[in-house]
Amino acid sequence: MGSFSQEKNINLAIAMKTGEYLTRNLDNVKVVYTRSDDSTVDLLDRPQIANRNKADLFISIHANWAKNKNVSGPETYIMGLAKDEDNLAVAMKENEVILLEEDYSTKYQGFDPKSPESYIIFTLMQNVYQKQSADLAMKIQTQFKERANRNDRGVRQAGFWVLFNTTMPSVLIETGFITHAEEEIYLNSEQGQDYLASAIFRACRDYINDIDNMSNFRVVDKETGKKEISVIEEPGNKDNNGIVFMVQVASASARAEIKSENFKGLTDIVEIYAQERYKYATGKFSEYAEAVKYRREIEEIYPDAFVIAIKDNKILPLQQALDLKKKK
Ligand SMILES: [Zn+2]
Repeated sequence: MGSFSQEKNINLAIAMKTGEYLTRNLDNVKVVYTRSDDSTVDLLDRPQIANRNKADLFISIHANWAKNKNVSGPETYIMGLAKDEDNLAVAMKENEVILLEEDYSTKYQGFDPKSPESYIIFTLMQNVYQKQSADLAMKIQTQFKERANRNDRGVRQAGFWVLFNTTMPSVLIETGFITHAEEEIYLNSEQGQDYLASAIFRACRDYINDIDNMSNFRVVDKETGKKEISVIEEPGNKDNNGIVFMVQVASASARAEIKSENFKGLTDIVEIYAQERYKYATGKFSEYAEAVKYRREIEEIYPDAFVIAIKDNKILPLQQALDLKKKK
């Protein structure tokens, strides 16, 4: 605890402000709070709320404390095994709230937040979103440092229950130390909370923009009229059972204008409308292996690109296409 304030009040204030920034400034963003008042939510339930809502990001906001009253500055955590005592201590402090819950030993499968050995379970986690989580965490720390002028204590890893079992990129933010006299005042001030919340917001915005760029489109034209685009009319395809292989580089719910600026300089982009999405593909090959080779060539600019098969202007499951081709 700080000299005059409690962590939970700071957390809630910054979380609510972050949510306001996000909803006010970004289209198509929905913010789900695990709590919007002074209630408490079991640690176990917090990631589940995010999972149930199919959230794209999970952000847990906290304030830190330390014996050493000179320590100040925000830290952002991602799931992982703590590399040092300090990081483990932060996870232990945050996990300790489960001791206040009824039946915690059953609910948390015997997990003891105070025992370092208990933290082994977090190594069993699959780090599917590790890279994205780290990316978001980096962006948050950068904003804290550059825009909010805070002492950057970096991106760290430790075993937090709230980051366990989430099905999306997830971070836990320690916004600062309430045991540091000046920082406690900052964390409790309207201005400090605004700075921190807008820093988190900007990091999320940058993260979302990067993801959109990675999936390789910039929506220029929000045309709603669905038009089936005739893509492939390859003469001489007959000896290939009418199958061609292409490399899909992007997919979007809204149409993108086909021009090379929107596709990182690629010029031979075609649009395929399938399953209520506009897909954009490049290259046109009669052999699967050639398409794979091409995918590798553009991997640097389109790391998530993949090979698709097309027959009669429709996308065909790859295996089915390969089987059909064999039968020719
Ligand atoms: Zn906390």
